[in-house]
Amino acid sequence: MSKFEHPDDGPVFSSPAFDQHEQMIFCADAKSGLRAIIAIHSTRLGPALGGCRMWPYENETDAITDVLRLSRAMSYKNALAQLSTGGGKSVIIGDPVRDKSEALFQAFGRFVESLAGRYIVAEDVGTTVRDMNQIRSQTSHVMGFSAQQGSSGDPSPVTAYGVFCGLKAAVEFRLGRNDLTGLRVAVQGIGNVGYQLCKYLHEAGAKLIVSDIQRQATARAEADFGAEHAAGADIYDQDVDVFSPCALGAELNHRTIPLLKAPIVAGAANNQLERPEDGADLAARGILYAPDYVINAGGVINLSYERDSGYDRAQAMKHTARIYDMAMKIFGRAEQERRPTSDIADDMAEELLTATG
Ligand code: NAD
Repeated sequence: MSKFEHPDDGPVFSSPAFDQHEQMIFCADAKSGLRAIIAIHSTRLGPALGGCRMWPYENETDAITDVLRLSRAMSYKNALAQLSTGGGKSVIIGDPVRDKSEALFQAFGRFVESLAGRYIVAEDVGTTVRDMNQIRSQTSHVMGFSAQQGSSGDPSPVTAYGVFCGLKAAVEFRLGRNDLTGLRVAVQGIGNVGYQLCKYLHEAGAKLIVSDIQRQATARAEADFGAEHAAGADIYDQDVDVFSPCALGAELNHRTIPLLKAPIVAGAANNQLERPEDGADLAARGILYAPDYVINAGGVINLSYERDSGYDRAQAMKHTARIYDMAMKIFGRAEQERRPTSDIADDMAEELLTATG
């Protein structure tokens, strides 16, 4: 029996995360030490756009799983953000503090160039504007390089604006109010996005409770927005209207969901659900979950307004505001079909992808 008759025993094609990816590219450059993987989930809506993550993965399987999951999420995010880009992502295996060099990013840039525009790279966790500039010396298929060179610069303020729009939609849908005065919001993670989100919420009259593993991050929000501080895990069971995860992923799980008192979850973090079933658990408890990749799409929307003719911030903000409408559509359909919002968002993204396939 040929080994090809048993395709379901390997780490790539049979991985649940593979999910009909179009292409994976394994990139190695001995001189610079580069080991990277580019995953292209779908180019049905246009060239695959997604960031490059640099992370010291414990093993290759972790790197493969991560790049595949992130890449598919980009297809869904870009589709529901109504962008004419497909979904892809890349990972560089290495420590972003120790292992970076100009040669490494240049080598990576040459691999991106070899794909002739099927994949467009941008920043992600562990990579910076400086790294994008180095990639740009080898390829034009890169976004998010330095603003002085005509790029859109730091996407975080636009991401925060999109999260704010999605959060407002959730408040209107679940609580029947469009005035945020006095609304109580618990924000976990006061980094680039979390801080800007707090600013929008404060200006709209909301009351904030903030947590971060870095005390100076919350101190800033306390000083600037009169926020209250919650230590560590105390952030989950605050008596608030909205819980907003803006730190890392997998914060919604079987340990934290039972603690939540908020009737709404709406935040910026990627991959908030530890497992797909956690979306159903939230719904069963009557908690309205604004799907992460729908409301945190402001950053990628922002990138898409980097054009040859220059970057158009006003149009990027206008487009990002449409996150409110998409969130409303998802909430309405979830209520009608009595299904979790996370499942509805996945279905709607798949429908858009297959309609154009
Ligand atoms: P960031 O690194 O600037 O901020 C993250 C903050 O979370 C840091 O202050 C960190 O100390 C804090 N943190 C980490 N673990 C924590 C914990 N257990 N409890 C409390 N605080 C914790 O990152 P960012 O750019 O603000 O992004 C935040 C999230 O949003 C990430 O999940 C990112 O993937 C996602 N996201 C960001 C963008 C963007 O434009 N920056 C776009 C889409 C999605």
